[in-house]
Amino acid sequence: MKAEIIAVGSELLTPDRVDTNSLFLTEELNKLGIEVVRKTIVGDDRQLLADAFRGALQRVELVIASGGLGPTEDDLTRETLAELLGRHLRRDDAIVRAIEARFRSFGREMPRINVRQAMVPEGAEALDNPRGTAPGLWLEDAGRMLALLPGPPRELKPMFLEQIVPRLMRRVSGVRMFHRELRVAGMGESHVEQLIAPIYKRYADVNTTVLAAPGEVQIHLRLWTADARHAEKTLGEITAGLQLALGERIFTTRGESLEAVVAQLLTLNNATIAAAESCTGGLLAQRLTSLAGSSAYFLGGVVCYSNELKTAWVDVPAETIQAKGAVSSEVAVALAEGIRRSAGSTLGLGITGIAGPGGGSEEKPVGTVHIGLAGPAGVKARALLFPGDREAIRWQASQIALDMVRVHFLYGGPAPGSLQASGQEPGRG
Ligand code: AMP
Ligand code: MG
Repeated sequence: MKAEIIAVGSELLTPDRVDTNSLFLTEELNKLGIEVVRKTIVGDDRQLLADAFRGALQRVELVIASGGLGPTEDDLTRETLAELLGRHLRRDDAIVRAIEARFRSFGREMPRINVRQAMVPEGAEALDNPRGTAPGLWLEDAGRMLALLPGPPRELKPMFLEQIVPRLMRRVSGVRMFHRELRVAGMGESHVEQLIAPIYKRYADVNTTVLAAPGEVQIHLRLWTADARHAEKTLGEITAGLQLALGERIFTTRGESLEAVVAQLLTLNNATIAAAESCTGGLLAQRLTSLAGSSAYFLGGVVCYSNELKTAWVDVPAETIQAKGAVSSEVAVALAEGIRRSAGSTLGLGITGIAGPGGGSEEKPVGTVHIGLAGPAGVKARALLFPGDREAIRWQASQIALDMVRVHFLYGGPAPGSLQASGQEPGRG
């Protein structure tokens, strides 16, 4: 079954409000095997609203609208729809009494305008709203189903789950969406696309989207079918093909964040880590501590922005900074080794770079970042040049630093006395 969502409200067309209801609705509809094929955001305007509903009702079997059910003049969904479908609005006295009772429970009297919320188009069912005044509406018309839900998310969500989902359950065919999400670090979107397009294009029934996110590329595979075995087989085959094409660049096939993958590897290997950060200003420490249980592997970090503190806190030799500059591979290495030594951790990370917009030079342009990773077997360094603004550069630096930790466990071998990371063969982050 296919559905469209119409988010009603002029505030959703301003820079300050986003339509979040449709994200919730899409997720829940997908669970039922209902595909959302279009979303419309429309202001509080009778003509535009009528157009949106007319179009959606011509195209799909299920239309879900949110918003515009309030008591004020700008809330037009109910009236517009009744007119569009040629149905009279009737006042439902039971709803009037329910709204009156709700106001009374707050010690207030119901304003007259709230009577509008008790108007129900002929043939529609009113959906009880214990968390607000506006009842929802369920309506069927010429083989189409239509749900009108209140805008506030705390009213819409329970109403959808409690009153719409059971209605839909009775009609869905058993077709569901099966989904895999692979993520790749350290590669551009077009490079990934070029390598994988010949593989995924062979599977016409699988919807593949390649999305560029900061510092990573996400590959979503979606298959709509009632046959779970077929879905697992097909998605497994494509995943294996993509792993052949992208190898170790894939850090997850389950949509996990890079910090989550790194956390698992550190835990599996019984390893600990500490970080000395300059240009990322603690971002790496923030990401490494964003997951519950991080104290098992993250010992601590320092933000040493000035040259003096690089020396005082992490023992970076002043002569190295003098000779090579603070943004250099030598300093990244010294940061990594210094923090590893003082923290007594298995691994030490050091980051230094120029996040911009100022401070770049011809030799070291904005976006230059050096990362060091020190471990029991020695130290590795990478020199990078990232595109983008300050925020993007800092994020990408943290992303590559985390990826160096991941790759260390793929090839660098486990730390002494630790377990071999089971099931972590190359290309299976
Ligand atoms: P309404 O039912 O149009 O009176 O909407 C009431 C309030 O619900 C609005 O002021 C918004 O704060 C919120 N709202 C409406 N539509 C959405 C939406 N699509 N996503 C998130 N919040 C919404
Ligand atoms: Mg509104």
